[in-house]
Amino acid sequence: MHRLSRRLFLAALATLAVATTSPSWAADKLKVVTTFTILGDMVRNVGREHVALTTLVGPDGDAHVYEPTPADARALAQADLVIVNGLGFEGWIDRLVEASGYKGPVVVASEGIAGIKAEEDQGQGHGDAHGSDEKSEKKKDHHEGELDPHAWQDLANGRLYVANIARALAAADTAHADDYRRRAEAYDRELVALDRDIRSRLDAVPGDRRKVITSHDAFQYFGRAYGINFHAPVGLSTESEPSAGEVAALIRQMRDEGIRVLFVENVTDPRLVQQLAREADAVIGGTLYSDSLSGSNGPASTYLDMFRHNASEIVKAFTT
Ligand SMILES: [Zn+2]
Repeated sequence: MHRLSRRLFLAALATLAVATTSPSWAADKLKVVTTFTILGDMVRNVGREHVALTTLVGPDGDAHVYEPTPADARALAQADLVIVNGLGFEGWIDRLVEASGYKGPVVVASEGIAGIKAEEDQGQGHGDAHGSDEKSEKKKDHHEGELDPHAWQDLANGRLYVANIARALAAADTAHADDYRRRAEAYDRELVALDRDIRSRLDAVPGDRRKVITSHDAFQYFGRAYGINFHAPVGLSTESEPSAGEVAALIRQMRDEGIRVLFVENVTDPRLVQQLAREADAVIGGTLYSDSLSGSNGPASTYLDMFRHNASEIVKAFTT
């Protein structure tokens, strides 16, 4: 009796091993490459078991300054579909696509989104700071016409990303088009509900205090959507470094405008923000997730959790 069940168990294991190593098992899946974790999470939500996913820049990684590897080129060479953020976020993607020999579609998830121009990135969030200070007009290495790539930091834009992704998956894998559409609709309902929830939670933040410093300029879409004014010593890309004069101007602005809340980010060096906090005698509210999700054990391992976490940290910093 005992020996029989053991034999059955071994037979079952052998069958499982054959099933998981059979080439048709992996070949059935749509091979999708995304550039960073936020897109990867969206594809996972819509594609699930139909998709074999590769995400190039992993958890807590910085896609602005990423350097692709030979393994990335191999992943692209075998892909059926490549999905990128666009808006100039992945400056390295065109060269990688070319080097890999990939000839399939490159889908831009932010397609159809009205990007915030670099020039209008200050005073977006809240009326009272708009044009109130000459110093908020100062610019940091922004090129004429450059668009802010961080469009995913507004859940309304996230809904468009998901719709674009679902359409691309359905076009590349028509056999499962209904699944992709159904899942995208269910996911969209979650995004709408979370957007409503975040708006009501942020109501707790007093209007005249809605000013926040982050490491780099990644939260203009968040600020515009939820009425919070974000300032940053580093520009739209983490590539640039502020001059001593720019840092001093920001410290003056913090004192003049009574900006008391600072955040470090998961993708950037915290030292500059720590220096600002020391010199302006302000506090660091915690870590915001800007350009990447956390690992699976972290507080922001999905796009939805990233928003929940960031909103909670902001509310907490203003109300404690
Ligand atoms: Zn960024």
